[in-house]
Amino acid sequence: MTTQADDEPQVPIVCEECGTDTRVPLSELADTLDRHNERAHDGEQIAVVDPAITEHIADLAAEDLGLFDEEPDNS
Ligand SMILES: [Zn+2]
Repeated sequence: MTTQADDEPQVPIVCEECGTDTRVPLSELADTLDRHNERAHDGEQIAVVDPAITEHIADLAAEDLGLFDEEPDNS
């Protein structure tokens, strides 16, 4: 029973080989990448998190884990 789906950070992933980019919830990131790379690229890591925000992911994950006390104020 998830009621917070809308609050979940969306992470952009890109696949150069397929020429696609899409956004997935942070919690589904690893699964989505795995599944795509497995199905489309024989398990090679072609699809990756958008390099432009890879750094930011660490922040999102840290926030998710409650490592920061700051209240997000982005309403
Ligand atoms: Zn691909």
